[in-house]
Amino acid sequence: MGSDQRIVRCARVSFGRDEKVDPERDKRLIRFLFRHRHASPFEHNVIAFEGSKRDWLNILEKLSIPTVQIYYSGGYIWVNLRNAINSLEHLPEKIFEQVKKSFPATWSIVERKGEISDEELSEVPYTTDRVFLQERIETSSGWIGLVDKLELGTDMDYYTFIVECPLFVARQWHRHRFGSYNEISRRYTAYDIKFYIPEVLRKQAKTNKQASVDEPVEEPYHSEFLEEIKRIIKESHSLYERMTEKEVAKELARGVLPQFMKTRYYWTVPRASLDNFITLRTHEGAQKEIREFAQAIREMVGYKGTDKKSRL
Ligand SMILES: Cc1cc2nc3c(=O)[nH]c(=O)nc-3n(C[C@H](O)[C@H](O)[C@H](O)COP(=O)(O)OP(=O)(O)OC[C@H]3O[C@@H](n4cnc5c(N)ncnc54)[C@H](O)[C@@H]3O)c2cc1C
Repeated sequence: MGSDQRIVRCARVSFGRDEKVDPERDKRLIRFLFRHRHASPFEHNVIAFEGSKRDWLNILEKLSIPTVQIYYSGGYIWVNLRNAINSLEHLPEKIFEQVKKSFPATWSIVERKGEISDEELSEVPYTTDRVFLQERIETSSGWIGLVDKLELGTDMDYYTFIVECPLFVARQWHRHRFGSYNEISRRYTAYDIKFYIPEVLRKQAKTNKQASVDEPVEEPYHSEFLEEIKRIIKESHSLYERMTEKEVAKELARGVLPQFMKTRYYWTVPRASLDNFITLRTHEGAQKEIREFAQAIREMVGYKGTDKKSRL
């Protein structure tokens, strides 16, 4: 699952330009990422190959880097490209072949330890994603798109999504640690700043201190607060723009942007963690905005119940 371009997309989301394709620049970006060990964008490519539990344990036994993660599930050994690069010498020959074929530009860079000239790079092939998004679902606070999936009927089948949601939803989402994330960086870019404005200001629940009830606060407060929210968002955005125009660093100026601001990230996640997300975040105790995303995921790729195998 993935391509040379997948690395670039997940790196370029930092400045919100992940849809652009320019093979020459893209290959140079992969080289830059490799040389500077900006490794997380490599994690959104996943390789699965047939093997027994014994084959898997044999690979694990040989590993000398304690952080390398290689998984076994349903007769397949699963490894993402970052971990594959860190354990290449212990993986079967056929995996080298698969890496070379699926990620030819990346492989050329890795093989030469990043020491590859622009001229040499221009000669190597570059693989791209088949489509930008396979499917997209809107929610009340943003949208989610399915980029890719590798489904072999195991607990470790992999999925990559793009999510655009308010900051407070992202904060909840990123607590789901078993998966990989690459997110827009508001240190880099002031591009495409958007805000979620809820249609309904729900009331605080009386029985659950964390929750809301599906009932708007009374008028005239509802209308007044909504107007005030819009005004504050407009004012804080305008202050942000004035500050950045006068060269205040974006990494500081962003401090005035409210939590209603939207962020955008790639999320690559195995089925076991995805099912755990769906269970926890479709539950009525979860916040409505994230619940809608969990329901959208369920609609797109289903729920297989793999998380129920864990006791805790
Ligand atoms: C309604 C609700 C309210 C919440 N409130 C709060 C809150 O107030 N404050 C707060 O901080 N968080 C809160 N959370 C977040 C919650 O505590 C979890 O961090 C979050 O739901 C991610 O769940 P997870 O750890 O199972 O998922 P992941 O981190 O994606 O992990 C997936 C699975 O991998 C395994 N795993 C991953 N990392 C480890 C590890 N280090 N050790 C052992 N096993 C691991 C576990 O089997 C786990 O189920 C809330 C969540 C919900 C749904």
